[in-house]
Amino acid sequence: MQNYLMAHSDWMTVRTTISTSPDQIAIAPGSLKKEWTADGKRYFQYELDHKALNFFSFMSARYEVAREKWNDVDLEVYYQKEHAVNVPRMLNSMRKALTYYTEHFGPYSNKQARIIEFPRYASFAQAFPGTMPYSESIGFITDLTADEDIDMVFYVVAHEMGHQWWAHQVIGAEMQGSTLLSESMAQYSALMVMEREYGRAHMRKFLKYESDKYQEARGGETIGETPLMYVENQGYIHYNKGSVVLYGLREFLGEDTINKAFRALVDSFGYAEPPWPTALDMYRELRKVTPDSLTYLLDDHLKYITLYDNRVVESTARMLSDSSYEVTVKLTCEKNHADSLGRETHIPMNDWIDVGLLKEPTDKEDEGAVITYQRVRLKDGENTVVLRSEELPEKAAIDPMHLFFDRVPTDNEKKVEVK
Ligand SMILES: [Zn+2]
Repeated sequence: MQNYLMAHSDWMTVRTTISTSPDQIAIAPGSLKKEWTADGKRYFQYELDHKALNFFSFMSARYEVAREKWNDVDLEVYYQKEHAVNVPRMLNSMRKALTYYTEHFGPYSNKQARIIEFPRYASFAQAFPGTMPYSESIGFITDLTADEDIDMVFYVVAHEMGHQWWAHQVIGAEMQGSTLLSESMAQYSALMVMEREYGRAHMRKFLKYESDKYQEARGGETIGETPLMYVENQGYIHYNKGSVVLYGLREFLGEDTINKAFRALVDSFGYAEPPWPTALDMYRELRKVTPDSLTYLLDDHLKYITLYDNRVVESTARMLSDSSYEVTVKLTCEKNHADSLGRETHIPMNDWIDVGLLKEPTDKEDEGAVITYQRVRLKDGENTVVLRSEELPEKAAIDPMHLFFDRVPTDNEKKVEVK
């Protein structure tokens, strides 16, 4: 009966009258209804357009304001004059996020979406209903001129916008797994918007980053690692692992199909009275859209901690009469479930995993582009996969998109030898 954000209140309305110095703008939740000056102070009156969780921010500073319209929604960025460089990226991300989320998850309930800069006393962004305070240090002064960089500004804004559905409409009960419904879902949402904006190659880089972060952090867990469904607010699980798992499920189920499950959560639990939804509700919705042949994916990634130990042992290419190449890839595979202390149990596998061929990386890339891949069933131990390619690949790789966690990612690819 209690949600994890606010234990002692549920949906409420807010009206604020706030005063500040004459040269500042004060911001409270909701639409600006009135503004006036009196006794040397500047006054603002705001009112929330839609009921919301009891979770608000109040800010005041000497702001510049960038404004745009997205349908009937006012998009606003409040920033310090000298920090204008990434403001257009923020507005772009808000627009793209609203377009995707309203199409796939349901309506946006506020009449405004605001990003509000604060100094780097703290380094985070956070979503309140319609208002998103955002530290100067994680976006406003970030230098994104090198075009191979992951666009962290676009991504963080899309994540915070995701919370307007995942937390501010669907809020989990105060129990294990609740941040799967908010943080992991905000990640998933941001990834979908990022992929549309920057393409699949960009996502591959991002998934690799998330996967490495997760594996690095689980080694430093001091209490006990939980499966994603039972996450206890651990960031490396609900952000880093959550991204890879939900993006991976999207890969196997299809975007429209998995989004049906997510939309069903909004339809059932958005702004609904308690009892609040749990990770079990999400699991049930996902199960409905998952064919029996793929339910092992839900269990491996939500109910268990699953780690592979896959390796490319050898890959050889042979030129065919039409000048294309036949590449034979020999692999060894192993799947384990880990317990909370990291003890692993071997699990028999007969799992769908991609095997692909990669180009030589350019100087701007860490990994070469994927030339081709095939989704194949791999069992424990030795496997052989034969692929065709128009060009001579530089490497063969198992799971080139980084959809699964592998204990030793470095041996997942190997140089192709020409025979
Ligand atoms: Zn978040």
